[in-house]
Amino acid sequence: MGINGETRLVGILGHPVTHTLSPRMQNAAFEAMGLNIRYVPLHVLPENLPAAVAGIRAMEFLGANVTIPHKVPVCDLLDHLDISASRAGAVNTIVNRDGVLEGHNTDGAGFIRAIGETADIDFTAAAVVILGAGGAARSIAVALAEKGAPRITIINRTRQRAEDLKSLFNRDFPALEVIIHLPDEDTSDLISTSRLLINATSVGMEGHLKSVPMDVDRLTNDHVVCDIVYAAQEAPLLVAAREKGATVMGGLAMLLHQGAASIHLWTGEDPPLSVMRNALES
Ligand code: NAP
Repeated sequence: MGINGETRLVGILGHPVTHTLSPRMQNAAFEAMGLNIRYVPLHVLPENLPAAVAGIRAMEFLGANVTIPHKVPVCDLLDHLDISASRAGAVNTIVNRDGVLEGHNTDGAGFIRAIGETADIDFTAAAVVILGAGGAARSIAVALAEKGAPRITIINRTRQRAEDLKSLFNRDFPALEVIIHLPDEDTSDLISTSRLLINATSVGMEGHLKSVPMDVDRLTNDHVVCDIVYAAQEAPLLVAAREKGATVMGGLAMLLHQGAASIHLWTGEDPPLSVMRNALES
């Protein structure tokens, strides 16, 4: 499908943005849907974020995705946040409605849909551990709280960031118990007694297992282990968890479903998941 005078643009704002798989996945969906929309990577330095957001409005982009490190700071630059974004304090999707910029967050819903395809979990009873307290961790934690999780443990390198997340919960989910640990504390028993364990840190593939504070020897076939990083090969944590018999989920499933939810926000239509999945796996 060619680009012409009526082509609408959507971008992904990030720094760095070269690693992103979203353009491949989203453009495949737009093409299959017969929509004259193109999705482009947009490298935006933190100091240029206000100008980039103004550009979305000025150039009449249909909207944008937002990734590291802009998900939290972009909140202050938009006209309106929906409940998913205001609860998470983070935005991954901007919708431009005739110059009014709305912030949404589809990461949490994407995670819940992906995990629903992987394992049968009663969120109202499951003990959950989340490694990380950044934008992705926040969105997932909010989505789990909305599903009725009674207790969430956050393990994060920087205590203050975890405390900030806990404050968000005190406001919106007062009945939810939030426990905070630092990575150097002994959390082995906690791992044993949890059902769902999620690595939502941005620890890269190199040195991955060493940097992820999880005692994999405690894992069994009762555990569901997720690592939301998306990379060509399976994250070392998932390889180790699989060896222990745990059910595992990688980041591509969440990427797929958060992206599909973003397309729904921009177009009002449901994109073909199989086309998007094929584009990611090709
Ligand atoms: P972020 O806001 O920058 O948060 C990063 C988190 O990782 C923080 O909790 C940070 O801890 C922790 N961290 C970073 N380096 C670490 C290290 N060396 N050791 C221990 N902890 C470390 O990033 P984000 O937006 O939440 O994204 C996190 C990851 O999720 C990224 O890899 C991103 O690509 C991925 N992601 C995937 C999807 C998907 O659809 N699959 C969606 C969103 C994000 P501190 O607080 O101590 O700095």
